[in-house]
Amino acid sequence: MTDRYAVIGNPIAHSKSPEIHAAFARATGEDLEYTRILAPLEGFAATVAAFRAAGGRGLNVTLPFKGDAYRLATERAERARAAEAVNTLRFEGTRIVGDTTDGVGLVRDLGDNLGVTLAGRRVLLVGAGGAARSVIPALLEAGPEAIVVANRTAGRAAELERQFGERVQAAGFGTLPRRPFDVVINATSAGHAGELPPLERPVFAADALAYDMTYGKGAEAFLAAARAAGAARVADGLGMLVEQAAESFFLWRGVRPDTAPVLAMLRAAA
Ligand code: NDP
Repeated sequence: MTDRYAVIGNPIAHSKSPEIHAAFARATGEDLEYTRILAPLEGFAATVAAFRAAGGRGLNVTLPFKGDAYRLATERAERARAAEAVNTLRFEGTRIVGDTTDGVGLVRDLGDNLGVTLAGRRVLLVGAGGAARSVIPALLEAGPEAIVVANRTAGRAAELERQFGERVQAAGFGTLPRRPFDVVINATSAGHAGELPPLERPVFAADALAYDMTYGKGAEAFLAAARAAGAARVADGLGMLVEQAAESFFLWRGVRPDTAPVLAMLRAAA
């Protein structure tokens, strides 16, 4: 019987996850269908319950429900506990297993697709929302010298410093350390509104990569500004999207799909 999966969010029409998972299923011969579910803002748990009752095996969870998914899970992977967010749910009998694959998706995109070594490097993480929190545990595991988190609302960056300890330092946009960074990651949603995080100091070391977790149009302004400010290389978050999907697919199916052809397919269609 065909196993059912979906991505749940609000809004959801823009999601590329069905295309990505369909491509993974074709390539690996897994028998599954993967759809989009629009959940009402106040109706996440009920929508998930209906999907489970209809035989659903697992869900990807996107904005604004990653916290709701965290609370709904009856078990949580350690990396999900650290992130306090869940983007992947597995339904196994009465168990609801929650995990987050965003961090590993980002680190694989940086390492495997872009050839960036994080060990010993200086990382600037711009933004302190859900996505920033989700990726910090995986970034720390990759062994950077330091992660500086800069956020518009200083208190949210300070909270991440408190949570993650001495290798994570909080800063404001106007109070960044003078030493430049090897990897600068935009984890804000500013690009969706055509805005830029106002970094007030040159932040790029020679050879630095500027990375925007947003992809497509929403990443263009940040990446153009980064080039103009001296970033040697730039990349948007499409690779992260594909890599986090591959990790979810692996959690559900025990099979690791090849991501390169799927990323190439999405880039060609963009
Ligand atoms: P949140 O709403 O949780 O956080 C938004 C962050 O952006 C906050 O730090 C907020 O600052 C900051 N921000 C918003 N507008 C501005 C602005 N005009 N200037 C400066 N800072 C601003 O969103 P998420 O963390 O969930 O998502 C962030 C981005 O990451 C989104 O674009 C999302 O699409 C992308 N993403 C990509 C993924 C991928 O697979 N490629 C996976 C997950 C997320 P403040 O705290 O001051 O409000």
